Amino acid sequence: MADEKAPRPAVEETIIIGSGPAGWTAGLYTARANLNPLLITGNDYGGQVSITYEVENYPGFPEALSGPELVEKMKEQAEKFGLAVEYDHVSEIVTDQHPFVVRTVNGKEYKAKSLILCTGARPRFLQVPGEQQFTGKGVSYCATCDGFFFRGKELVVVGGGDSAVEEGLFLTKFATKVRIIHRRDELRASKIVRDRAFAHPKMEFVWNSVVTSVNGNGSVSSVSTKNIVTGETAEIKTDGVFVYIGHLPNNDLYHGKLHLDEDGHLITDKKMRTNVPGIFAAGEIQDKVFKQVATSVGQGCSAAMQTEKFLAELESEGYHGGVDPREFPSYAPFVATVKTTATKTTATVTTPERVLVPA
Ligand code: NAP
Repeated sequence: MADEKAPRPAVEETIIIGSGPAGWTAGLYTARANLNPLLITGNDYGGQVSITYEVENYPGFPEALSGPELVEKMKEQAEKFGLAVEYDHVSEIVTDQHPFVVRTVNGKEYKAKSLILCTGARPRFLQVPGEQQFTGKGVSYCATCDGFFFRGKELVVVGGGDSAVEEGLFLTKFATKVRIIHRRDELRASKIVRDRAFAHPKMEFVWNSVVTSVNGNGSVSSVSTKNIVTGETAEIKTDGVFVYIGHLPNNDLYHGKLHLDEDGHLITDKKMRTNVPGIFAAGEIQDKVFKQVATSVGQGCSAAMQTEKFLAELESEGYHGGVDPREFPSYAPFVATVKTTATKTTATVTTPERVLVPA
């Protein structure tokens, strides 16, 4: 297959990292803008939506569709306009020289005039005894992938957000009982989802409680819990534990290179610009508020449009590589950040702070 692909240019116009909704949308828009973009998928192909059983709030699909189906449609649409896709995982980006450098675990090295970072987020772990030991043997982070194995069994789901409750509802298709264990006495999930869960005969709720250990012998047989109001402890028999307690941004590539907020999200402005000129970000790597497929798609679109503008500015200045693009007078200064450490930034303003050293 690789041989059938058109050869890539020595310097890419833009490389998109990540294959969730933000990445595919950035791919679609940059492809339609004739930028000949390259998308590197990352190990978690499709991102979080690809492990979602049903997406019913993405506009245009009134019948709902599965996460993997949606990902395939997005990919197909972007490829139709010329997006090139590499199934590889980025191990390093070099951001203090221009063109930027992208290295992958398969030993490839690319140069790019611009980057669109869409590396998303991953599930947060409970970090209690037994969790790691029983992962894949009863502990799961993906109801879509593993729900089928629990036909006729009892399950617990940890968390109180949309993911926990929606995926808990999905698990009722297989399990005889699904208990939601939540650390407070009210759900964070949206009303429509809450109402559906409260009305479901197979759903039960364990309030004000945290899981303190996952127990079993070879496979999961129970979880230990603690009521954080009364201090009471309990053991709840279960065949499986599904953990949905939020997400952590996939920011390993960016420490010490790009500005991150205190939770580890990339800091961008409204134009999806990071603190390095020519590097944009979209989706859950930079969004800790909305985290919807629809918002990630919108951010991917914005990042792509800004990338196009950035590249057009370089071109209009006669850019041919090896020059700091900020030296061009038409290049609008945009991000300046003060008080930055490798992982923490406390303010964003306007004017680039980093110096791009010609490669
Ligand atoms: P979330 O909204 O951040 O909810 C995480 C849940 O886990 C919260 O209930 C939180 O409790 C609990 N939690 C966090 N840390 C915990 C810990 N250490 N131990 C026990 N419980 C813990 O995450 P999410 O449900 O994955 O949703 C993420 C975003 O995606 C949200 O914006 C959500 O609306 C969106 N989403 C939307 C849909 C949809 O629209 N169909 C579907 C899925 C997700 P507290 O409530 O006490 O903080």
